Amino acid sequence: MIVSEHTTALGPELSDAWARARRSLAGGVDSPVRAGLPVGAYTPLIDQAHGSRVLDTEGREYIDYICGYGPILLGHADPRVSERVAQAMADGAVFGATHLEEVRLAERLMALFPSIEQLRFVTTGTEACMTAVRLARSLTRREKIIRFEGCYHGHSDEMIFSAGASSLSSPTLASGVTGGVIHDVLVLPYNDIFAVDRTLRGRRNEIAAIIVEPICGNMGLCLPAPKFLESVRDLCRSFGVVLIFDEVITGLRLGGGAQALYAIRPDITCLGKALGGGLPLAAFGGRGDIMAKLAPEGPVFQGGTFSGNPVCVAAAHAFLDAIYSDPNFYATLERKGRRLADGLRRIMADLRLDYPVVQCGSMVDFMFRHGQPHQNFRQAQEANAQSYARYYHAMLQRGVLLPPSQMELMFLTVAHSDADIDATLAAAREALPLSAA
Ligand code: PMP
Repeated sequence: MIVSEHTTALGPELSDAWARARRSLAGGVDSPVRAGLPVGAYTPLIDQAHGSRVLDTEGREYIDYICGYGPILLGHADPRVSERVAQAMADGAVFGATHLEEVRLAERLMALFPSIEQLRFVTTGTEACMTAVRLARSLTRREKIIRFEGCYHGHSDEMIFSAGASSLSSPTLASGVTGGVIHDVLVLPYNDIFAVDRTLRGRRNEIAAIIVEPICGNMGLCLPAPKFLESVRDLCRSFGVVLIFDEVITGLRLGGGAQALYAIRPDITCLGKALGGGLPLAAFGGRGDIMAKLAPEGPVFQGGTFSGNPVCVAAAHAFLDAIYSDPNFYATLERKGRRLADGLRRIMADLRLDYPVVQCGSMVDFMFRHGQPHQNFRQAQEANAQSYARYYHAMLQRGVLLPPSQMELMFLTVAHSDADIDATLAAAREALPLSAA
């Protein structure tokens, strides 16, 4: 049921709740995108989330396409996860010691991701990517890394500049990043294999790693060009460079990740988001000889008070059990993604709009940019920001919660019903003519 009678307080008006949030939380948020700057408004403060819906503090309900920015795949507050988490809590929330459920979870992930010969659990995707790069440096004894504009790999110093939606930091000391760090990071255009080739040839024996989102979800949804990933894989092999796939978004959302989809074996994989069934759990893992570099056996330090804690591990098991209990789990997600994407394409055609809709499994996206789907961050930045802001608000008024930035994308869960999707499409049919430039 679409709540088109919404009279959401939009625009620059500051609700009492937001005013209160801004007094205690810097910018009123714990992560910048939540402030809604790209859509020029304070976003709804959320009180509860169930299934495909979130409820704001004023009692308004929305169909949710943020879904925690990726972690939610079963739907919010899935009882199978909640019950296991409650059980785990009852037996102790953090041990500071290895436990067998964590070992069992590692084994399950190694079965899902054949490229992972060993792994380690951490709490956030940021930590996973940060340590993956450190391992690559230790292995190769080289200092520089290559990453791609528009890909986001967490908020460590070397990952935050030129990193797409989640981090619009500049490579300057004003952003808190030192010249030394900037010097060690080469940022290339996504999908530009010639730039990768040129850089590796020009800097022989300098590059430790290439880290990439094999399907990028941080500049809208940007798919790899044909053969891009395969060529990066080959070049890494030729030049002795460690290939890191950041599958923090794609990992569990696509089953065996983009690496299964494209049949490419990275040297290290970073997982997070969906892995924890909604709780904070991430991991990095890969080639055994690389993982052997980790302390205590090797020289590379990494640690974490909450790493692999039994509560988050229990949530991950519950999530994996739910996936395995339904042989059609990923087919269902794909079907839902297609229903939404095809519906949007039909609406675009009816309205004579040529904004390309991109879909991969349960990830769906379009940008207010004409022509072919964007291939890199520069092209993503050509999208019309005002149109998206109008669209965001028009959808919000119709009971659909989209991410408050065009550089993010729509995430579906198995809890999104066909009726949810059809209601979303009905809202989009009304909202798009009010938004398009
Ligand atoms: N990698 C990717 C691809 C991400 O999208 C994110 C988070 N948006 C991260 C890493 C960082 O994960 P976290 O926020 O858990 O630190």
